[in-house]
Amino acid sequence: MKCRACMACKEYIIIKDGSYKNQKAIQLFEREHSGHFIGTVDYTEVKEGYTSKTNEYMDRA
Ligand SMILES: [Zn+2]
Repeated sequence: MKCRACMACKEYIIIKDGSYKNQKAIQLFEREHSGHFIGTVDYTEVKEGYTSKTNEYMDRA
């Protein structure tokens, strides 16, 4: 499982391939973290120490 993660804020959103709503949520995440260091990482790299914002952004997408 892959995630888009902001290294500055230590927050991430899970990437769900084929989900249009998830694509919109990721766009929103990237917009709000623009200027920060965002990367695509494996879930195992963020599950500890990072906060999941997946539900929050999916609700808003
Ligand atoms: Zn950020």
